[in-house]
Amino acid sequence: MDSKEFRVRGKEVVDYIVDYLENIRERRVFPDKKPGFIRDQIPDSAPVEGEAWSTIFEDMESIIMPGVTHWQSPHMHAYFPALNSYPSMLGEMLTNSINCLGFTWASSPACTELEMMVMNWLGKMIGLPETFLHRKGGIGGGVIQTTASESTLISLLAGRYMAMKMYQEMHPEVCKYEINGKLVAYCSDQAHSSVEKAALIGLVRLRYIESDENFSMTGANLMKAIMEDRDKGLIPFWVCATLGTTGSCAFDKLKEISEICYSELLWCHVDAAYAGSAFICPEFRDWLKGIDKANSIAFNPSKWLMVHFDCTAMWVTNSGALHGAFNVNPLYLTHEYSGLAIDYMHWQIPLSKRFRALKLWFVIRNYGIKGLQKHIRHGVFLAEKFESLVRADTRFELPARRYLGLVVFRLVGDNVITETLWKRLNARGRIHCVPASLKGKYVIRFTVTSPRTTIDDIVTDWKEIALVATQVIKDSLI
Ligand code: PLP
Repeated sequence: MDSKEFRVRGKEVVDYIVDYLENIRERRVFPDKKPGFIRDQIPDSAPVEGEAWSTIFEDMESIIMPGVTHWQSPHMHAYFPALNSYPSMLGEMLTNSINCLGFTWASSPACTELEMMVMNWLGKMIGLPETFLHRKGGIGGGVIQTTASESTLISLLAGRYMAMKMYQEMHPEVCKYEINGKLVAYCSDQAHSSVEKAALIGLVRLRYIESDENFSMTGANLMKAIMEDRDKGLIPFWVCATLGTTGSCAFDKLKEISEICYSELLWCHVDAAYAGSAFICPEFRDWLKGIDKANSIAFNPSKWLMVHFDCTAMWVTNSGALHGAFNVNPLYLTHEYSGLAIDYMHWQIPLSKRFRALKLWFVIRNYGIKGLQKHIRHGVFLAEKFESLVRADTRFELPARRYLGLVVFRLVGDNVITETLWKRLNARGRIHCVPASLKGKYVIRFTVTSPRTTIDDIVTDWKEIALVATQVIKDSLI
């Protein structure tokens, strides 16, 4: 494809994208395909001769789209949102055209500098203390990571580095592998599976703390576990507090937890993957109390802030811990300002880094703080509306409090009946939800996702759920 054709095809693709998003309601949100459906439609090997764009693009509608789960659909209620927006798309297009790799300041200075500035903007927007921001002479700051999972792992490795350093200073005779074998990390029994994965990779024990009746980890339960482990000769070193759990969007008691971490010298990481976006609204910031004593926090603008995946915002108060955990300095990566300017390669696991700050910058500027707050509040309002519809139907129960844009519900009765409802809903493809288990109770999660969702969409979805529930209950009586 030459430049002349790209100008034409590029415009056609932009039109296709707009039509796709404008008419997304007409598509089945969840595909009815079986594993292998693409294998049956495309050749086993790549074409030897190049194909015309028109031939390639035809396959988009005939082969690809029928197997897509439409995450931007107003009827998508599974997982947490992964929203996009036009300014974000334009940012991605430009990022892809520039395609620079910002591993050091010198590898593309604008990439690093914009990221620092935008991470300071975003940090201020959610009310983070100054210690998390890039400041002259400061050691804190923000970085864009690929995912919340990666941020959790990075935080655990940074915490491990600090714990080993501290322990070795006190006991120089003990080797670091021996220390590693005694380290214990903590999270609630409601934490995301990525915390377990981080502990697996970091080769440290992970202890789950039983959450309370509101699915929150409390300071008292955490402290008890730390004391028990110390008595066993183990070394507690890192805690992950979740703000907005995946199962029910519950909030751990950050203030109690971070104070314990601070006084007991444990690294406190805050995983706010979904809920973090809501902190741009001051009325949702109470859950952040205690952040001043935490060491790191991450949330995904790629979930609820309409910035494309991938974009996870992570802040630390001590970037030295990241440097300690990840510092390698081959000659070919040094430059005139090494040690003076930020080299993000020391803040992350891969060397290379996409210019992700551009799309974030565009979205924040184009919507403004007010526009983004309006979007978050509208999502919460729609979830409240859905919650009131469920509450009014006595066949259903709400086994956990609604927080933000996530409602969890179930049919009154045993787990099987709710599981049957969930399976039938997904098979019909008109709405898409995923289940969760809350202390043994099977629940269906309903997250408000698309910025295009209207009250009418919510009412339509509820009618679908109520209709299928009627059939499920009727069948269960036979
Ligand atoms: N943490 C929480 C609380 C989540 O809900 C999720 C995913 O939804 C994750 C972490 C993982 O996010 P990511 O896909 O960015 O790794």
